[in-house]
Amino acid sequence: MASSPSPPKNSSLFCKCKKTAVLREEAPQRVNYRRRYWGCATIEGGCDFKVWVDMYNYKTQSVIEELWDEKEGLKKQVEDLSKSYVVVEKQKTSLVEYVRYLKNRMN
Ligand SMILES: [Zn+2]
Repeated sequence: MASSPSPPKNSSLFCKCKKTAVLREEAPQRVNYRRRYWGCATIEGGCDFKVWVDMYNYKTQSVIEELWDEKEGLKKQVEDLSKSYVVVEKQKTSLVEYVRYLKNRMN
């Protein structure tokens, strides 16, 4: 039997419950008996996430990690922009009030 590199027990794959997918083996009663896959970490009541290890390209792992980091970065940016938006909205309200005040003075 040809030896293939052992897949990591935990991958950077995330299942639909947003948990780190874990390495599993297909159960005896299944067609793909003993075939390995990454699945949901939750055994009872978990999601149906399943990625076959032999179908998995290890290069995609690093791409997934990069995208995950990028996503976290973008999330941070959205948070920062939301904060800035609140500040700008407050300034806008102040300016509108000030313009109203000036208009009243001119009358
Ligand atoms: Zn899951």
